[in-house]
Amino acid sequence: MMKVLSERHEVLSVDETLRRMREKLAKVVPDAELPLKAELAHKINQLKLERSAVILGHNYMEPALYHFVTDFRGDSLELSRLSTETDADIIVFCGVQFMAETAKVLSPDKMVLLPSDKAGCSLASGIAVEDVRQLKRDYPGVPVVTYVNTYAEVKAESDYCCTSGNGKAVVQYLFDQGHKHVIFLPDEYLGRNTAKELGANFVLPGFLRGQRTEVGPERTIIGWRARCEVHELFNVEDVRNVRKQYPEVVVVAHPECSPEVIAESDVSGSTKQMIQAVQEMDAPKFLLLTECSMGDNIVSENPDKDMLRLCSFRCPHMNTITMEDTLEALEKLQYQIELPDDIIERARLPIDRMLEIH
Ligand code: SF4
Repeated sequence: MMKVLSERHEVLSVDETLRRMREKLAKVVPDAELPLKAELAHKINQLKLERSAVILGHNYMEPALYHFVTDFRGDSLELSRLSTETDADIIVFCGVQFMAETAKVLSPDKMVLLPSDKAGCSLASGIAVEDVRQLKRDYPGVPVVTYVNTYAEVKAESDYCCTSGNGKAVVQYLFDQGHKHVIFLPDEYLGRNTAKELGANFVLPGFLRGQRTEVGPERTIIGWRARCEVHELFNVEDVRNVRKQYPEVVVVAHPECSPEVIAESDVSGSTKQMIQAVQEMDAPKFLLLTECSMGDNIVSENPDKDMLRLCSFRCPHMNTITMEDTLEALEKLQYQIELPDDIIERARLPIDRMLEIH
């Protein structure tokens, strides 16, 4: 069991924080912005200790917050795991609503705070509970896998959750159990990319609720039409243009990108797997196809790597989480995640299953 409290940042003085920020963030944050960020980081870290809070930061957080305020950083799956291991009284989730909800489901007795009440997600809002119920009526007995990028009430209707890191393993597990069909929600591109990797068919239900699409006897993923509003912006032409200019570039893409973009890339994986690829591969240049703050965070961790980015593709939802909001969240204990008991109970099983499959 991890001892989170004892592993926290020591509270550095403002001057020392600023010195370290200049050292680490010189390439990615304008110097004029750093004194204010250093002051905010100092205040947040002090209050965090006083409140017995832990701050979890998704890989898409802005670099100063990511490196100087969070106790633990990672993708949805890693942060979900970490949220169950902390002995802190308060979890401040620097990410988006569905991530904080997952932490609340896993730690219902803890106070979970999300620093902004506007941190949604186009994937999570792309499917409603009634859509899932209708799919279950249309395809009785077919297991439902939902991407972790969904709200807790949708998870509560599901059999398994998954992340971009273990989606393929979860679907493969269900195929191995003898299921021919799997409902995979809500990201169309992640569904298509997963089907392609597993050599399975992919179908979408009709546009109207209840418009059932017939499915053959072959292994098939029944998907949904939601997309990540950031990753759908990347296109094949952009990748080809970069390759023309830098033929030696290694292209690393997130599987929420379209299958056509994934086909043009060299590596595809969750944000954690993307970071690992950059760290482990010896390439003259990398092109990252994901939210651009993550690119900044990788640059500051790996100053020796030459990184190209097609930015600025900043997630408007992740972007609502600022250092100012994080400080205010700790001061006012806002915004607290509250979920009905029955949703917590029913969402727990698919999330637990997700954590068990790698
Ligand atoms: S990057 Fe895409 S999937 Fe992630 S929170 Fe933003 S909209 Fe949702």
